[in-house]
Amino acid sequence: DSVFATIVRAPEDPILGVTVAYNKDPSPNKLNLGVGAYRTEEGKPLILNVVRRAEQLLVNDQSRVKEYLPIVGLADFNKESAKLIFGADSPAIQENRVTTVQGLSGTGSLRVGAEFLARHYHQHTIYIPQPTWGNHPKIFTVAGLSVKTYRYYDPATLGLDIQGFLEDLGDAPSGAIVLLHACAHNPTGVDPTLEQWEQIRQLMRSKALLPFFDSAYQGFASGSLDADAQSVRMFVADGGECLAAQSYAKNMGLYGERVGALSIVCKTADVASRVESQLKLVIRPMYSNPPLHGASIVATILKDRDMFNEWTLELKAMADRIISMRQQLFDALCARGTPGDWSHIIKQIGMFTFTGLNREQVTFMTEEYHIYMTSDGRISMAGLSSRTVPQLADAIHAAVT
Ligand code: PMP
Repeated sequence: DSVFATIVRAPEDPILGVTVAYNKDPSPNKLNLGVGAYRTEEGKPLILNVVRRAEQLLVNDQSRVKEYLPIVGLADFNKESAKLIFGADSPAIQENRVTTVQGLSGTGSLRVGAEFLARHYHQHTIYIPQPTWGNHPKIFTVAGLSVKTYRYYDPATLGLDIQGFLEDLGDAPSGAIVLLHACAHNPTGVDPTLEQWEQIRQLMRSKALLPFFDSAYQGFASGSLDADAQSVRMFVADGGECLAAQSYAKNMGLYGERVGALSIVCKTADVASRVESQLKLVIRPMYSNPPLHGASIVATILKDRDMFNEWTLELKAMADRIISMRQQLFDALCARGTPGDWSHIIKQIGMFTFTGLNREQVTFMTEEYHIYMTSDGRISMAGLSSRTVPQLADAIHAAVT
């Protein structure tokens, strides 16, 4: 008998499991709105032109080798990543108070940050929004932090519960870590306004709560890299400390290349360099050092003014297509006279619409219309096209009537 005979089958991942179910469906009209990956109008994955250009340059460069990167990753990549999120003229960067290490996309960067905090930070409680990306509680729990939630979304208004948000942070113990989505909150698509961010910042600083930003959608939300980093920059501008995990999965379409960065903003250069020395001790036994290819693509693009500009245009085009899908879906529901107020579809930000559809309605749409989404009613707008909007609108209409 197998030595593993007693192992019980684990459940499928709630998000990636949607694609597993989708792949099993033989219907020619099936539609996958589960996973947050960008698709073109034709429903195809997109490799950015500027990414192809950068890859071509790398391939043609005969001087390039495949040696190991340092534990912290590619130096140029780290430097440019910090500039991208904190701003090129950030005083924290100029004062060498920021340490940045390359990570395995957003997830790996969050994990390294969490492991570092579990080892070296005095408070082990992290507050995450309710709801949040499903992987957050798992990442922080396995790293040894204790996870609590703060109120974020109000199902009654389909908007931000700022009152509950501030109350729960107000009740948090001094020094607690707070996970914040930098922009395009996943799954709700609901972000604080700048005024609300300012309220959050003041409260957090007054209680010495430590901000840990998850920035998975910079540029993808509004189409502007700077606008989407404003929340983070507010917290750096006050001179205080914070962590930030960046992902290039969405904004450069580098999903499978696993490119990201973790930055820790400290009070002094000396602290930052000691923090970095400890990050190396976290990374070395985990995966030794990060992969070369994706980080080289990103560094090539970020360092070159012309390629950087091309990237911002392609990024804006992706963001604009998603925004136009919101409008088309909203219009299609209005045209059908679908009962209910659907204006949240055009008000929400980023890749997802949190439809407000319940588990039964989602099951109905999957069974009757072959439309796949997470059971909380989250749909990826990036997976929609003008061709598939009517199918989705018909399904939603049928599900709620
Ligand atoms: N944070 C959030 C909020 C996300 O939505 C995602 C991607 N779904 C990530 C982090 C990390 O993704 P990745 O590891 O692919 O960069």
